[in-house]
Amino acid sequence: MASNAQYRRVLLKISGEGLMGAKEYGLDPVTLDRVAGEIRSVRDLGVEVCVVIGGGNIFRGVSGASTGMERAAADNVGMLATVINALSLQNSLEKNGVETRVQSAIVMPTVCESFIRRRAIRHLEKGRVVIFAAGTGNPFFTTDTAAALRGVEMGCDALLKATQVDGVYSADPKKVKDAVRYDRLTFNEVLARDLAVMDTSAIALCRENRMPIVVFDLHRPGAFAQVVSGCGLFTTIAN
Ligand code: UDP
Repeated sequence: MASNAQYRRVLLKISGEGLMGAKEYGLDPVTLDRVAGEIRSVRDLGVEVCVVIGGGNIFRGVSGASTGMERAAADNVGMLATVINALSLQNSLEKNGVETRVQSAIVMPTVCESFIRRRAIRHLEKGRVVIFAAGTGNPFFTTDTAAALRGVEMGCDALLKATQVDGVYSADPKKVKDAVRYDRLTFNEVLARDLAVMDTSAIALCRENRMPIVVFDLHRPGAFAQVVSGCGLFTTIAN
């Protein structure tokens, strides 16, 4: 591990919207390339990086269900959207010279590997980035819960949650001018105050397994490497 890195292995959670750039839907190639560069800089610090990616830039099960689609079917579509994002990010990472494997919770062997925990660990040990696609593989879950689950399974030191702002605030800082940013919170405070960080099942899984969550803004250049080195702006949530 590089001397200034605080972690040996991290799980990065990126929402689908985080790959959209200024677009209203889908993927922005420039944003994908920039995010890939951020991941490479952390990998170059000697930190093992795995990624869980959302699908909200393409399809969300809840929205599908609101138009009359059966929820489980809509969630399957949502999970497939995360595979599109995962393969696209893999492509950008490999263009940036980072060897990457995609492992999907829904098997599709002609497109990517299936999720096999021990195999994923081996990839990380070899310096590859592993992107986990298709969430948990089950409807009625979110990719936040998938991130907590994979983070714990892979023995990650922290779950780094990339958002559109530089931490957790008392209210939405884009709407409330005097919203307060927290440097540190406990899991219980997040749950008791109903702070919109991740869904409660993800928070509970991290709390039970004592895996800290670090919330930061992936769109600020260099932020990912800074957070991993313990500097810059972020909120840490721990026991
Ligand atoms: N999804 C699911 N099970 C999972 C993870 C995701 O059914 O374990 C579906 C669900 O429909 C969700 C969609 O995939 O709306 C996209 O994931 P998510 O909304 O978490 O993406 P994000 O908000 O992070 O972009």
